[in-house]
This record gives sequence, C-alpha cells and structure tokens, in this order.
Amino acid sequence: MNSTTFEDLGLIEPLLRALHTEKYEKPTPIQSQAIPHLLQGRDLLGSAQTGTGKTAAFVLPILQRLAAERIFAQKRAPRALVLTPTRELANQIGNSIRTYGRHLRISHTTVYGGVSLQPQIRALSGNIDILVATPGRLLDLMRQRMVRFDRLEVFTLDEADRMLDMGFITDVKKIISELPDKKQTLFFSATMPREALDLASKLLKDPVEVKVDPTSTTAEKVEQKLFFVGRNDKEALLLSLLEDPAINRALIFTRTKHKANNIAKKLNSHKVLTEAIHGNKSQGARMQALRNFSAGRARVLVATDVASRGIDIKEVSHVINFEMPNEPESYVHRIGRTARAGASGIAISFCDVDERAFLGNIERVTRIPLPVDVEHPFHCEIAARAPKGGMRNGKPGAGGYHKRGGFRSQQRRPRAGASKR
Ligand code: AMP
Repeated sequence: MNSTTFEDLGLIEPLLRALHTEKYEKPTPIQSQAIPHLLQGRDLLGSAQTGTGKTAAFVLPILQRLAAERIFAQKRAPRALVLTPTRELANQIGNSIRTYGRHLRISHTTVYGGVSLQPQIRALSGNIDILVATPGRLLDLMRQRMVRFDRLEVFTLDEADRMLDMGFITDVKKIISELPDKKQTLFFSATMPREALDLASKLLKDPVEVKVDPTSTTAEKVEQKLFFVGRNDKEALLLSLLEDPAINRALIFTRTKHKANNIAKKLNSHKVLTEAIHGNKSQGARMQALRNFSAGRARVLVATDVASRGIDIKEVSHVINFEMPNEPESYVHRIGRTARAGASGIAISFCDVDERAFLGNIERVTRIPLPVDVEHPFHCEIAARAPKGGMRNGKPGAGGYHKRGGFRSQQRRPRAGASKR
C-alpha cells in the first residue's frame, strides 16, 4: 500500500516526536495526500469522514505553520480558526492540538454552546493561537466582541455536510463573512452535496482536492453487528457469545468504570480470564492489565472510552460494545480497535431500549444502518421496535448526557433565522 513516512511529509521534529509518542507508525491516506500541500500553504478540499485520521491531517500542518513564524499570541485574536459542528468534535480537535503540539508553544482554546459563556470568555482573554469553535457559540462571542479575526492566517471548516444537516449554514456563512480574505482555507466534508460544493467554491482558491476512498475507512473494514437485547440480559448474552472460541481476544467497552469492574468480575467468575482498565486504576495496574491482555494471558479486556484512548493492541478479534457509547465518535474509535493494519475484525454492539437515541446518533455519523442480528437467544423485540430517536421517558444511559439534546440546543438558536437576509 502506501509506504510514505511522517518524515517524508516534511513535518518538523517536535511534531514527529509527538507522533512517535502516540505510536502512529505511518500516515493514513488522507494525511499523506493532504499534509505536503497544506505545508506549502495551499487551500484544500477534502472528502473524508471521521475515522480516517483527518484531524491530524489538518492539525499537524496548522501547528507547523504557526510554529514556523514566532508571532506572539494575542488576546482574542487567534491565528487559526477551526469550525466544527458538535461539542464532541470540538473537544476531540482540542485534544489533538494538545497531543500533537505538546513540544511546541502553541496555545489553543475550545468554545461551544450548551455550557456557560463566562469561562470561555475568560479563556479567550488569554493569549491564543488556535480557536476551535462550534458556529452558534462563536457567533455569540463575535457579537460580544470577545474575539476578532484580523490576525487570522488559517481557517478550517470541518464536517461541512453535517453543518448543513444541522441547519448551521447561515451561522457559518455569517462567520465566514467576518474573516479576512487573505488566508489559507481547509474544507472537509464526508459527502459533497451541492450546497457544500457551492460553499467550497466560494471559499477556496485553487484548492488541492483530496478524496479518501470510503471503502478504506476503518468503519467499513469492520464487520459490524447489532444485537437488540434487554438490559438485564446483556450479561447472559455476553457469556453465550464467549462460548465461541473464535472470540479469542475481545475488547469490551462500557460507559462507566463501575460497569467495567462488574463485567470483569462476572467473567472471571465464569472462568473467562478478564482484565479491566479505567480511570480509577493506577497507571501501574493499567499497564499490567494491558500486558496480560496483549500477551494472551487474559482473553478479554474491559475498558471505558477514556481508559482505552491512545492504546494500541494488536490482533483484537472482536470489539464488543456492552453499552452503546453516548458520543457517536466514540463508536468509530471503539470499533477501530479491531481490524487494525489491514486485518479484518468484528464489532458487536448490544443495544437496549434506552440506548436507541445513541444508536440513532451513531448511524447519522457512520451513515450506514448497523446490520441487525436477530438470530441470538436474547433478541429483544421492544428494543428493536423502539423509535430511532430513543424513548421519550427512558433516559439514554446512566451518564445522562443526551446527545440529541446537544444537537437540538444548538439548532434551536433563535438567531439562525434572524440572521437570514
Ligand atoms: P479522526 O479521523 O481524525 O477522527 O481519527 C481517527 C483516529 O485515528 C484517532 O483516534 C486518531 O488518534 C487515530 N489516528 C490518526 N492518525 C493516525 C495514524 N497515522 N496512525 C494511527 N492512528 C491514527
């Protein structure tokens, strides 16, 4: 396949060091295609969805560009702006900037709706190089003169098609109209509907076009299965699945530490050797658990999303979502733990009636309905027939963060219509 290395792309040493720490062995296709052009200052039209490594494809060149010219960061005047549709994506991009920029002195902050404005205003009044924002909140801050763009050098529009789907286009256009003409612009969209292309053609100057073949994305290499099951039957379903020796190295995800512990205990009591990693375990205990799993001394590893971040375990035969993730991006990350390095893998998701809302959101991101398997002994017809948006009075998950609420709170902004002229 592609034998390009990160060194070949022309990245500077502090970035290479950070990538090495992350144990990224080689660039993904979008990274090797986009990064060299972006380092030359070209505009970009990128067709790529989440899970392809697109965040690093734009974050690395932005960091390199800002680091090349030592201009001191100023209050409220970022040199780079990344606009993204959801708070989860904003946080993820913020985390990537922190991770890849750990050896550089580049500051960043993240702003999004649904939380109080004051801490974000305070963060903006510090010196910032990169601002990551969702559209509605950014407009609020612009109206209050809490941010200005006269020093802006790079603008990235992430997930343009989702911005359109979520009704953010008027806000996005308004923001764009306030940006300086002379800048480098990066435009990403998983699909390119007409409206996205129209916007791109207005925004981009002689762009390089990069398209990542969707068949090469992780999500499509993984065989995905969805099991509808009652919450109280999940453990029995798991035990029955584990009777199949083909599941020789399984990574099981839960939403909470408590659940991770419970499952590990249960499986061990049934002689399925299991380790658990989560935020309450010491670094030493986590490393030991990972070693036992990697060496095959434990057949199962139960993990929470946070604990699993950044770990790279080879040859995971199955990923099992014992609980559906409440953030769709986590789904993509979880299932990407199997089918690494060209191998194929199987991802099985257990969905109970209260998790239907999470499922709906996941399918919006992956853009493919998960194939339902009804041929298992614990199939739950009530969960299968529940409305896609989730139960009205059933709380989707113990954590309580309702992703749909998250979308809605931004979509409902009265301003969206008011600024249409
Ligand atoms: P993204 O498409 O940006 O959401 O990235 C998907 C996942 O791939 C993230 O968890 C990244 O940390 C990871 N990732 C990005 N680039 C690479 C790479 N070159 N090698 C291995 N993992 C990567």
